[in-house]
Amino acid sequence: MIPVQNRRSPGAAPQGRKSSSAAPQGRKSSSVSPQGRKTGSVSPQNKQSSGRSSQKRQAKSAPSQNRQKRPAGKAAPAARQSRGNSSPQRRVRRPASARRRRNRIRRLISLAALIVMFILCAVLLVSGIRRFFKGKDTVPPVIRLDHREDYVVMPWQDYEEEGFSASDDRDGDLTDQVSRTVMEDRICYKVSDSAGNESVLYRDIPYDTSYKEKTGRDFPEIKIDDPDAKGKIVYLTFDDGPSSYTEELLETLDRYGVKVTFFVTGAFPAYEDMIKKEDAAGNSVGIHTLTHDFEKIYSDDKAFWKDIDQMQEIVQRQTGHTTNLMRFAGGSSNSISANYTPGIMTLLTEQAQQKGFQYFDWNISSGDGGAEGDMDMVIRNITSNLPNQDTCVVLCHDTKEYTVNAMKYLIPWLLDHGYDIRPLQFDSEPAHHGVQN
Ligand SMILES: [Zn+2]
Repeated sequence: MIPVQNRRSPGAAPQGRKSSSAAPQGRKSSSVSPQGRKTGSVSPQNKQSSGRSSQKRQAKSAPSQNRQKRPAGKAAPAARQSRGNSSPQRRVRRPASARRRRNRIRRLISLAALIVMFILCAVLLVSGIRRFFKGKDTVPPVIRLDHREDYVVMPWQDYEEEGFSASDDRDGDLTDQVSRTVMEDRICYKVSDSAGNESVLYRDIPYDTSYKEKTGRDFPEIKIDDPDAKGKIVYLTFDDGPSSYTEELLETLDRYGVKVTFFVTGAFPAYEDMIKKEDAAGNSVGIHTLTHDFEKIYSDDKAFWKDIDQMQEIVQRQTGHTTNLMRFAGGSSNSISANYTPGIMTLLTEQAQQKGFQYFDWNISSGDGGAEGDMDMVIRNITSNLPNQDTCVVLCHDTKEYTVNAMKYLIPWLLDHGYDIRPLQFDSEPAHHGVQN
């Protein structure tokens, strides 16, 4: 700190020194001149000075000027000295250190600006070089299509976009600029990059073709005007199983998250354990009959209840609990029973309710109870009768392959049209036919 100040003081000091050194000369010359005047001619001194008479004259006139200036010149060093003596040196240093700090900040700012400029230039240069070497953009954008596993469009459904994206090597993501046109059996995706390179991609709509593969026919055209479809309750019920087709039906139900009702029998002991699966999946299990032998079960009420109790044991063994749901073989309105015991249905329906059962009939039949039938028939019979019922109790048999296959189409159709598929409960709509024997 101090050496720096010393270095600077010579710069300021010379002026002070000059004036102070000029002052004595001025004094001398002024003291000489009176002598010169006294003697009249002081030759040696005059000789010495005579050569520089003009200089002396200047010197003579100079003192007066110097004298006037001197006090100011003298006062400055004096003031400086007095300041230096009386106040601490810090006062002098402070402005200098502030100046240095300011200078340092200025230097740092200009250095930072230089660095930023340099980086900008470098980036521009590199991108320019890249463009130069890349040349003209001739690469079109790339369109990618998403596809959902197992997604198929049922004949009555519209295609639901599975997703797409588009990107370009120079323009980046162009998904927002993709134009999409839906055609009869496919969708066209189009996009262009900023250089005008166009990409076009087609997607075949994944229409379900299994119906035609199975039946050789197109899916039946269903034209139903059911204004109450939304929220209308449909109880799908399956009798006479479980059978070899029951597991497949359970898979379909699981796929759509739908629960139904099974009125079970002992007709196929090998599939008895399906009762457990039906119950575990949240479906309702009711008793149909163990033997389904009309002659035997409708011979008298004891034989009937013996048959029902045996089936109840199987249900309990499989599900861990008994059931209070049942459906008479042939329905409560069957007249075949009259061939064996007149009036037995009147007795049995009364006894059923006394024993704590609720028996269910149906108000829509799929028509699959006979020997002949196919998917078309099941779908048409059920869908065409839905508008006629406030609450639909639908009779089906999970012992028929075509019925189980028909459910793969009927269930999603019902759901798409707003129907509410539920399993029967004790207090559900029983759809009683009315006893005829
Ligand atoms: Zn039956």
